[in-house]
Amino acid sequence: MLELIEHLVKLQTVELDRTRLTQEMRALPSELSRAQAELSAAQAQAAEASAALVREEQLRTRMEREITEHRQKAARFRTQLDSVTTSAQAAAIEHEIQFATAEADRLENDEFASLERTESKEAELAAARAKVESLAGALEKTRERVTQRQQDYKAHLESLSADREALRPKIDEDWLARFDRIAAARGTGIAKAENQQCSGCRMGVRPQVWNQLREGQLLTCDSCGRILYWDPAMAPAPKEPQPEAIPGAGRAPRKPRQAGADGG
Ligand SMILES: [Zn+2]
Repeated sequence: MLELIEHLVKLQTVELDRTRLTQEMRALPSELSRAQAELSAAQAQAAEASAALVREEQLRTRMEREITEHRQKAARFRTQLDSVTTSAQAAAIEHEIQFATAEADRLENDEFASLERTESKEAELAAARAKVESLAGALEKTRERVTQRQQDYKAHLESLSADREALRPKIDEDWLARFDRIAAARGTGIAKAENQQCSGCRMGVRPQVWNQLREGQLLTCDSCGRILYWDPAMAPAPKEPQPEAIPGAGRAPRKPRQAGADGG
């Protein structure tokens, strides 16, 4: 019976380890895609800053062409001033000169503002590129780590599967079937009885069941259906109730019996 308990407990440890490893292994790709997403976001930011710089450049080219046109227009009107004959004509031309000059001035101010935007976008681009570089390095490291861990997990899982295949034939078929059925439903198939409780569901066990368990029997929890066992090694050394020694009654107090030493 003790051997059966041992095998079932070992099998449960192996199964729980397999479940945990499988879950951890499934989480690995998301670690990689998170690093990939961070890099993509930084790349998009760099591309956006770069495109903004191009737009500012194009804007200034257009503004410079317009400024030149306005200045040339103003110069043309000034030469016409020499040949006007009426003051009304002169006033009209003066008005045109003023308008062209004001437009050129306004565009020059706009160009200056564009240069300032370029400066701040250039700083943004430099920061984004530095971030891209560092995140690309981080992604590469994550990729290496994930690959390594995938290999480790795979090797560990293979060794656990070998343990599992070695253990299962050693276990009585009926118990194994019961274990499999409960484990599939509850995650674990066997539970230790501790402090007169099932450690699987925390429900109390009846005193009679508790006594049978302590005698080494395998039972079933009434509440959760898990196979229940008692582990003498894990329990605090049970204190045998001391016989009510009457001081000076003339007989030596009995030696405490070793648990299980009287061979059941
Ligand atoms: Zn239970």
